[in-house]
Amino acid sequence: MAKYNVHAGHNSIVPGAGKYLDEVEEDRKVKNEVISLLKSAGNTVYDCTDDKGKTQGANLANIVAKCNAHSVDLDISIHLNAGGGTGVEVYYYTGSSVGQTKAAAVSAAISEALGIRNRGAKATTGLYVLSNTKAAAILVECCFVDNKTDQAAWNVTKCAQAIVKGVTGKTVSAPSKPSESTSKPTAKPAIKKRLGNVDACYAVYAGGKWWPEVKNKLDWAGKADGVPCRYLGIRVTKGSIKGRVYTKKSGWLPWITFTSKYNTKDLVNGVLGDGSDILAVQLYYITPSGYAYKKAYYRVSVLGNNNFYSAQIDDETGSGMDGYAGDKKNAVDKLQAWIE
Ligand SMILES: [Zn+2]
Repeated sequence: MAKYNVHAGHNSIVPGAGKYLDEVEEDRKVKNEVISLLKSAGNTVYDCTDDKGKTQGANLANIVAKCNAHSVDLDISIHLNAGGGTGVEVYYYTGSSVGQTKAAAVSAAISEALGIRNRGAKATTGLYVLSNTKAAAILVECCFVDNKTDQAAWNVTKCAQAIVKGVTGKTVSAPSKPSESTSKPTAKPAIKKRLGNVDACYAVYAGGKWWPEVKNKLDWAGKADGVPCRYLGIRVTKGSIKGRVYTKKSGWLPWITFTSKYNTKDLVNGVLGDGSDILAVQLYYITPSGYAYKKAYYRVSVLGNNNFYSAQIDDETGSGMDGYAGDKKNAVDKLQAWIE
């Protein structure tokens, strides 16, 4: 029989994502079922979940310390995703063949069990837990907390069984005692706490320099009408914000998620943009789990028109909204963003 470390991501002090599902609540339910299924199949399992870390960094360091205290065949990290996608994806450390095999098997098994999109195994060197654990490791993003299709398909027991099937290659039956989570997979979340005021702070690079940071709707970011914005840095005082820009040179660039800071010294990962004119912007606010959710509101004006286009809300479409700000043809010269 094999040995496993299993943990659920984040904790109630430094919560993960939330919207229709709460990451910290759901990842712990999945973690508990995975552990009991692996144990009942005769494996040795250690729970490496951390409920004490007071910062994101402390939480990650505590998890890794617990993982590395045991010699195991595989570390299994359980998370739920956010940011406006759908389906399951599983990360492994670039170059780990065990990681790749297990990640692909778990992703396929969850996709089949829940009937959601299989985004597949993804190699990365950028996830702390994967880079710092000694054993082969996978990080499972079971589904998206902010996607209604995923929420409707969500089932803790099926997901846990699929993870165990993917990892061990064996189909496991449900525990004899009916689990609470099976009987109410789409139970209404508990009443959410109010998050209170969240500030969006942002700055743009235009006309050859970075302009001072502005906040919410108090001002707008930019140099002046007629001067294209070429980079954008944005941060929020609680939770995180995901953004991407459509540029003249590259079209849509990859999404980048920012918490309390951006970095104008890192033009690749620290801010949005590639140095060419920004022609559209998309922002998406990720509410900390356990709180009533809030959204990113944002609007731009473009070259040749001094007025702001109508505001966008996250990636929502309909009621005159495109799901992004800008027209993908004319450079953005002024931007405003706020969280409500
Ligand atoms: Zn997470």
